Amino acid sequence: MPDAETTDTVRIDELTWPELEALTKAGPPVVIIPVGSLEQHGPHMALGVDRVLPQAVAERVAARMGALVAPAVAYGYKSQPKSGGGNHFPGCASLDGDTLVRLVRDVICDFARHGLTRIALFNGHMENGWFLTEAADLALRQMIAEGVSGVRIVKLGYWDFISPETEATLFPHGRPTWELEHAAVMETSCMLHLAPGMVRADLIPDDPEADFPPYEIFPADLRPIPPTGVLAPAGSASADKGRAVIEQVVPDIAAALARAFTE
Ligand code: ZN
Ligand code: MN
Repeated sequence: MPDAETTDTVRIDELTWPELEALTKAGPPVVIIPVGSLEQHGPHMALGVDRVLPQAVAERVAARMGALVAPAVAYGYKSQPKSGGGNHFPGCASLDGDTLVRLVRDVICDFARHGLTRIALFNGHMENGWFLTEAADLALRQMIAEGVSGVRIVKLGYWDFISPETEATLFPHGRPTWELEHAAVMETSCMLHLAPGMVRADLIPDDPEADFPPYEIFPADLRPIPPTGVLAPAGSASADKGRAVIEQVVPDIAAALARAFTE
């Protein structure tokens, strides 16, 4: 944990190198890397939702458990129609898969070379999933080749920690698949709680759930994509629901990380 006498930040980019070196020598803190995207989130939310949410969760988890938060990766893999509305919406600026893999791999490797061998990837964008797995795998392979031992990487999506009780609060009438929850009740609620200035509450759509066929076409068939870019009804979002999510997942993720890095 950062020494309260020298710093009260959990952000690694706000530390000096001697401060970071001292923390590392005291027993390397977990370094959380939030990974997001720049992606449309409907007419009612800003493009940065997928970075803002995992970073906010990361900062709260880090403060709780004495971890550090690295600068977020603000770009992600291409938005897909069935999980993000598609990369054709204005503002979707995305990475090729190998760019994302190499970016995350390179950052993990440099932290590990400096003794920060406990890395947590906090994903905020569904489409990043397997590329983060690949980045972790290639980083481990590289560190083994260089003789850097003890590297452990945990990958998670904060939404996977939402308990059945919190889910019942969010979706009293049942929820769509998590993929269709794009820019809908969960994300909108969390943003209303954490970053209300990035939400236009008067523009929250409440259109029915998108109806996609059980396959994908390349180039994408745009017809089943709701014109708003929101894939499920969002009208029941609220700041109270967002607070319920954040207050439940933060301690649960902190406990899970503590386990994952000690077992
Ligand atoms: Zn999102
Ligand atoms: Mn996304």
